[in-house]
Amino acid sequence: MISLRRALELDPWCAEARTALAEQLVDQDDTTLATEQLTRVLARHPDDAEALALRGMLALCRREFDRALDDLELAQLLDPKRLSLSRNVRVARHLARGPSWKRTYAEAKGVYRVRTEISAAAARDFATELDLMWGEYARVCGVVPKQPRPVDVLVFRTPEAYQTHSELVLDDDAESTLGHFVPSFWEIHLFDEGDLEARRTLYHEAFHHYAAIVMPGLPIWANEGMAEYFGGTRITGGKIVGRAQVLAGRLDDFVGARAAGWKPVPFAQLAHMSRARFYEDDAPLLYAQAWTIVHYFLEAAPDEVKRAFVRYLEEIRAGKDPRLAYRAAFTGGADPRAWEPRWLAHVEAMGRK
Ligand SMILES: [Zn+2]
Repeated sequence: MISLRRALELDPWCAEARTALAEQLVDQDDTTLATEQLTRVLARHPDDAEALALRGMLALCRREFDRALDDLELAQLLDPKRLSLSRNVRVARHLARGPSWKRTYAEAKGVYRVRTEISAAAARDFATELDLMWGEYARVCGVVPKQPRPVDVLVFRTPEAYQTHSELVLDDDAESTLGHFVPSFWEIHLFDEGDLEARRTLYHEAFHHYAAIVMPGLPIWANEGMAEYFGGTRITGGKIVGRAQVLAGRLDDFVGARAAGWKPVPFAQLAHMSRARFYEDDAPLLYAQAWTIVHYFLEAAPDEVKRAFVRYLEEIRAGKDPRLAYRAAFTGGADPRAWEPRWLAHVEAMGRK
């Protein structure tokens, strides 16, 4: 950062240095300042394809589709051979247009902007339920964000339609998933075939959106474990009628794997696991484990352990490195060696209910 700023002092109109600085600012999530830097470059060098491409992507992330397309299409004209540019133009067009449904039903409530091809009643139910879930996330995590960034929620009727949309905007058909929150342009995608699974996915993915606002540094185990925990909420007739329900499939996976000789990952290891490691082949078991641990913390653990988890979340929310947050929270009576046997007993009790 210092050398780039120095380069800009020596030559304030050095477009390359300013674009590089903007890239660094993007990495640091300061997209407003990054856009300003790029606009300064482009005022002097309006045909700088690099700066246009970057500013266009920043606009796309803010869902300012017209601006994004202006910049990206011009960049593509200036640099027609760059494949990433034609891809980004294609993505921007799809995002701006939305899914090609015969009819779109829309309903907005709180931070959620729901669109679906299913029906007006479905759109209304999704929006109402999501708004209730927002209150749940805030209640459990103890934080109501002051200026939450809204999220667009797209609910498809079939897995195939969901996969086609994913392929168009993410270059990934997301075949093995039921839904996802896309943090780069703030959309939740899922499909609803009329079963409970869609609700579970909706409440799960919407937690990822909440966490991205409130605790962007939340480690993967806690993010997935809490999302699963909220997936166990039941809403009927616009009211919450059940919380922290047992997810039968997850529980079966966990219990079955243990019976077959699989050993849960020690918590100290799970808590420090990278995203890449978490999503390897044994991901279903890690999801199950993370969910049972969150369930234990919030539903069954002694106060000391529950407080440790709350403290862990607070430290992460304050921007502390997760390793330090872990060290600050899980010590003394909240040391995993003290509670892991009780957590496993809790899981066994869940199975007997
Ligand atoms: Zn998830």
